[in-house]
Amino acid sequence: MPVTQSRAKAVEPMYELGNLALMSNAIEHEAGRQVHDQALMIASALQSTLDLDKLIEIFSMEVKSLLPHSGITFTYEEDGKEISHGKSSRHRCSYRLVVAEQALGQLTISRSRPFKQNESMLLEYLLCGLVYPLRNAIMYKHALTAALRDPLTGVNNRSALNAAMVRETELARRHKTPLSVIMMDIDFFKQVNDRYGHLAGDFVLRSVADAVSNCTRCSDIIFRSGGEEFLIVLSNTDTKGAMQLAERVRKTLASHDYHYGEHHILVTASFGVACFRAGESSDALLEKVDRALYDAKADGRNCVRFTAEQS
Ligand code: GH3
Ligand code: MG
Ligand code: MG
Repeated sequence: MPVTQSRAKAVEPMYELGNLALMSNAIEHEAGRQVHDQALMIASALQSTLDLDKLIEIFSMEVKSLLPHSGITFTYEEDGKEISHGKSSRHRCSYRLVVAEQALGQLTISRSRPFKQNESMLLEYLLCGLVYPLRNAIMYKHALTAALRDPLTGVNNRSALNAAMVRETELARRHKTPLSVIMMDIDFFKQVNDRYGHLAGDFVLRSVADAVSNCTRCSDIIFRSGGEEFLIVLSNTDTKGAMQLAERVRKTLASHDYHYGEHHILVTASFGVACFRAGESSDALLEKVDRALYDAKADGRNCVRFTAEQS
């Protein structure tokens, strides 16, 4: 059975590296001074990255000589996701890390032999050098996520699309796997705004994005590529699969009415489908799917069209 020696004890940075209240006795001795110097070096190494995963790895590597351990895990407070390095062992020492009342997550180090009390005190001291870089890395992660997300619908935005298209076409080329894209545009959406107001239009956009998300698999990536235009990138999916999905989304949207106040709003959308061909650029694939969407609009809207070749 694993032994947790200090379960979820909250570490707040009350012993910052400049404030040696905790360590003052130890530091009067040579060994204590060495620990203090090393802690300063660790704190400085932790300033070198904003990548959460890398930060935990650096912390583990840097404290290993002072505090031998076989594994380290950081469990993110927000969603319970874990970052682990090394090998988890029987004896564990865990701390819940908190900065200015903001809980960051739980850090656990483990090894095969028990931790002594002075070792858990030492870890507590060393963690004080980790909490601020950790908070910065978490804030950076949030900023990155926000920069790639459309605030209205919660799906990926146009900036995220460009990077994803390059990545997905490269993967499809390298692994010789099929890759399809669906571009959809809500029909006569201007009329929704004109008739029911812009807020109702926003509500419909959010509802459409939710409906598309519910129709797709986790591996499908949804982007809001323009005002009332969405793009779905389907890795490992051929033409037939993409056409089926587009038809399913089309039917779902066309059969649903959106309740906004006393209004029941009906919308349909038009769909273009295109598949990646080896040697094609991501821009060429986007041009192809755009043409397919154009054909769907020209053919009367509320339908799915496929383009095999570029014009
Ligand atoms: P079509 O069938 O040809 O696509 O016609 P449409 O009316 O959908 O196309 P058009 O390009 O004429 O109008 C798009 C409308 O989408 C106009 C614009 O005000 C609206 N729109 C774009 N972004 C937003 C948004 O964030 N919120 C709201 N409410 N409306 C938006
Ligand atoms: Mg439209
Ligand atoms: Mg449009």
